[in-house]
This record gives sequence, C-alpha cells and structure tokens, in this order.
Amino acid sequence: MDKIGFSVKNMDRSVDPFGDFYSYSSGSWLKTHDIPKEKTRIGSFDELYEANMLILKDIAEKCANGKPDSHTERLVGDFYSSYMNENLAERLKFKPVMPIMKKIRDMESIEKIPSLLGELARIGVNAFFSSYVTSDIKNSEIYALYTWQGGTSLPDRDYYLNPKFAELRKEYVKHIKSVFTLYGSKPSYAMADAKAVMDIETELAKVQRTNVELRDDRKNYNKMTIKQISSRYKKLGLEEYYKALGAKSISYAIIGQPEFFDKLEKMIPELELNKAKAYLTWLVLHTYSGLLHKAVYNEYFGFFGRKISGQKSPRPRWKRGVSLIDYMIGEALGALYVKQNFDAKTKRKADELVANVRSSFAERIKKIDWMSEQTKKKALDKLASINQKIGYPKKFRDYSKLLLKRDDLVRNFQMAYAFEFDRDISRIGKPVDRNEWGMTPPTVNAYYNPSLNEIVFPAGIFQPPFFDANKDDAVNYACIGGVIGHEMTHGFDDQGSRYDKKGNLKGWWRKTDENKFKSKAEKVARLYGSLEVMPGLKVNGKLTLGENIADLGGINIAFDALKMALKKSGYKEKLIDGFTQEQRFFIAWAQMYKGKARPEESKRLVLIDPHSPEKFRGLIPAITHESFQKEFKELSKKRTIATKHDNVNLW
Ligand SMILES: [Zn+2]
Repeated sequence: MDKIGFSVKNMDRSVDPFGDFYSYSSGSWLKTHDIPKEKTRIGSFDELYEANMLILKDIAEKCANGKPDSHTERLVGDFYSSYMNENLAERLKFKPVMPIMKKIRDMESIEKIPSLLGELARIGVNAFFSSYVTSDIKNSEIYALYTWQGGTSLPDRDYYLNPKFAELRKEYVKHIKSVFTLYGSKPSYAMADAKAVMDIETELAKVQRTNVELRDDRKNYNKMTIKQISSRYKKLGLEEYYKALGAKSISYAIIGQPEFFDKLEKMIPELELNKAKAYLTWLVLHTYSGLLHKAVYNEYFGFFGRKISGQKSPRPRWKRGVSLIDYMIGEALGALYVKQNFDAKTKRKADELVANVRSSFAERIKKIDWMSEQTKKKALDKLASINQKIGYPKKFRDYSKLLLKRDDLVRNFQMAYAFEFDRDISRIGKPVDRNEWGMTPPTVNAYYNPSLNEIVFPAGIFQPPFFDANKDDAVNYACIGGVIGHEMTHGFDDQGSRYDKKGNLKGWWRKTDENKFKSKAEKVARLYGSLEVMPGLKVNGKLTLGENIADLGGINIAFDALKMALKKSGYKEKLIDGFTQEQRFFIAWAQMYKGKARPEESKRLVLIDPHSPEKFRGLIPAITHESFQKEFKELSKKRTIATKHDNVNLW
C-alpha cells in the first residue's frame, strides 16, 4: 500500500489550477488509482478505512486465537470466531433461522402481526417500519421513542417508482425468487412470493416521504400519546407492537410520518396472510444473508453488490466480519483499538485544533454582514455551547451481561442486537446520557448531533490523511481543521440552525435574519444543483444542502484558523515543495476529497447520500473561497478561473 496522506506527488502540475483545480491537486493520484474489484468507490476516507481494517483484524484475530484477558476480549474473539467459521455455516444451512421462521409460519391470522413485528424488530428485522430511541428533539434532556417509515430493501423509493430503474426492478424480483428457491420453495411458489414482496414494497415506497422531505425535522416530529396512537391506528396495533418491543409503559411516541402509517392502517389488515408471511420470510433471509451459508450471501451479493452498486467481487470474509463486530459491539472492539491507537499527545493536539477552529468561527460570525447583532449574539452563544468529544467515550459500554458463543453466529447477532435494543427501550422517558457516543472509536468520520449540540471526532479520524503530526499547519488545518469546521457549521446549516443551544428544536433567529439565511441557502442549493455527476445526472441541491453549507463554512473557518495559527507561532513565510502555506491549504483540501466511484454507485449515492460527490466537495469550496484567486494567480497562465461560480458563503 502507498503511504497515505497529503503529497504533492498526487498532483498533476501540467493542469492549470484555474482550469481544473481538482485535477491539478489530485490528477496523478486519479490516473494511477483504480477502484479495486471488491469496492464501489475509493478516496481518502476509504484509504484510511482500509488501513484501520488491518489493525482491527489483528485485534480480532488475537482475541479469537489467544486466551482472552478480559470479558471484552472474549466477546470480540467469540464473535469473530463464529463469523469466520464458514464450514459450520455450510453445514447448518438455514437451521439457525428456523426458530424465527417457525413463528412466521405459525401466525394464525393477520391480526397477530403487530406482536410478531415487535419480536422481529428486536432481532434486527424491520418490516413495514422501524422504531428507535434517541433524545426527544423538543425536550432534549430525555429519551423518546420514534416510529419511522420503512419496510423497503432497495436503496431508495425511486428504485421502485422511477422508470429508469425498470430493469433493476425485474432483476430484484428474480433475486427474491432465487432466495426463496434456495430456502426450499418450489419455483412457482417462489415466483409468486417474490411478486407479492415486490407489490408490498412498492406500495410502501409510494407513500414514503422522499429523502429531501425527510430532512425537515419539524414535519417529522409528530408527538402522540399512546391513546392517540391507538385511536388513529386502531387496526395497525401499534400498542401491541410497542409491548412486544419491550416498551410496556410509555406515555407517548413520535410518529415520523403519520400519513405513512395511515396507509399501513388500511393496507396491513387487508393483506392476505400468505403474502404477509412471504414478505416477513424474505426480510429475515435478506437481513441475515451475510450470516448464513455461502449460496445465500452470493445471491445477495449478485444483486445488491454487483447490480445495485457495480461491485465486482465480494469483500473478503474477514473484512465483513470485522465490520459486523464494529457495528454490533463496537465499543468492545473500540476499547481494544484505542489502547494502541490514540495517545495523550494526539488528544492534546486535537483539543488545540478544535479550540482554534472554534475561535476562528466566532470571529467570522462577528464579522457577518447579513445578520443582526441580536441573532449574532445567540449564534455565538450556541457556538460556545457546542460540546466536544474527541477520541473515545469516557466510559465504554458495559457488556458484562452480554454472553456470546464461539459457534453460533446467528444467535450472536441476535443477542448483541437485542442487547442494544433492550438497553435503548429501557431508557425511554429517562434522562439523556450526554457522555454517550453515536460512532465507534475506530470510525473514520465525525458528526454533529443537533439535539445534543455536540461535535464528535472518533480516534479513527485523527490519522493521516486527515491528521499528521509530521505535516505542516497548512495540511492539518485543511484536512482535520476542515472536518472540524464542517461539523461545527452543521450546528448552523439549514437543519442544525433550527435547534437552540440546548439541542431543542426551537427557533432563536430574528425573522429577517432567517429570511436572509433562507435566500442565501437557496443559492447554495442552486449552485450544487447545477453540477453534473455524469451525463444526464445532476447533484440534488436540496438533498445535499446541509452538507454543502457545512463544506463551504468548513473551508472558511479552517482557512482563517490557519492564518491565526501562523500568526500566533510567528511563522516566517517559506515554500514547502514549492508552495506557500495558503496554496498548500487549498491543494490539501482538494486532495482530501480525491476519489472515484463506480457509475452504478454514483447513481445510488446521488439519490441517498446527503453529501455531494467527492469531486465537488474538493472543488467547489476551494474555488469559490474568497482568497483562492489571489493565492493561485502566479501559478496560473489564465487571468481567472475557468468556471466562475458565485460566492455562496453563509458562514
Ligand atoms: Zn457533514
């Protein structure tokens, strides 16, 4: 593997920076890197992800093969052993899912479905809709239960409804049929059942809100008492379902999309029992496809990997195993990971970077010309209140009550899933634990949580190419500084700005400022909406609005933070690899988003990913930055940049 991280070797200096800054910054890398067969995309996040996977593999193997020193090591070792035991999976075939299949088969009438749905949800199978527990966004101090639209397995409702996916839909029905056939259905039954599944999912897709509509937290917040729920959804039996989840004495729930459940209220009682059973059977087989024998996984991969995403070959089994453990018992694996991979020095440097980026953001807010002093004061107050979490949780999850086996993968999955699920359910109505993390420590990512007003940076991202103690400030401020600025800006994007400093969905803007914000945000949406991903396919400017605002804010804040840091350290201007600090900043920013995706994957991502494609994340914030032209003038033969975009800065 190449050494990952910023390098001028990734550049193509034969390209003019004002002509195509993306190729100028990453052209050599783009020319010399193909997407590996097992992947659907590559880029900076992915390079680090792969490097991390090797570390996690090593940990998992040691736990599995050695004598465990702790309960944590035993859990990781047992889970990994059970996953890697392919021979056992081949011998058992469908046996591990028989108990749950029996329950589906034995369902006497459609009226019995609510409690079965609850039972399935506890082991990771979400039919028709799903439920989860998180802070109540209008009362962020306590946990609430949310019930949300769902029930479909294709990546987005468009795959069911848009004529351009007609071919894939046919393939999907064939795939479902093949899975039923493997499971032992006669071909004619398998086909009828596959069609029944497709009919149900298509009906659900029709009434699902779009991903753009789902970005409106106010519309998705419909608090109802259990009494109200029972009277509005009489036949759906949500109360029964909640009891089966273990939520026996809750007073209210938040229904994400009431009209979706209105539809279910009519649809489910009229479903033929056999069709309902086919649908549930399919969902179990689909959800558990990675846990069963090879034939099932290969069938899954043939459709969801190859056809949907353009992936050429499956990821090696060990990678799938490590990913699953990270997903299921991530704080066990993560506790072992940070022992070797996050030190006090990195933590100190990270704290310093976050503090500098925060003060740079504050300075920018003070200077904004479109916002009243009154709203500015509140914005500054909110910024100062953002809680920061770096590295890993103060206290890791207590898994002492979770017991796994070395030779029962499906059971391990169910036990670990139910462990988390029950833990969540038991906290409904109780105070929110502000020390908890929503990402595991090895994760190469970061997030802003509006309802806790917090930014969170797992240990995983404090490594090259995002953070490198051996690199100059320009590179670190562009990369990890840019990520920090991005996450902070989320508190002030079109969604985050609706939350107050305590994390409640409650307005704090003066009306005139809010209107100005909206019209500026529309400009951002228009600019990105005009960008072409591939011929005939454009970025969805509305879906990606929040992320684009965060990228645009992130680069501004990080650039100012760099200037402040250089000034503070008394930096004497010198060229590194022939570039100034300012130039290296923009090149490193664009390089952070070097990347490629397969065409199938690009189409999928345009529909579901709230981020713009990497190319535009690298390019647009850089070339629209107020200092960009000035910094690259001498390196360009052109007078100005080729494609001029309006300055669309909000922050
Ligand atoms: Zn983001």
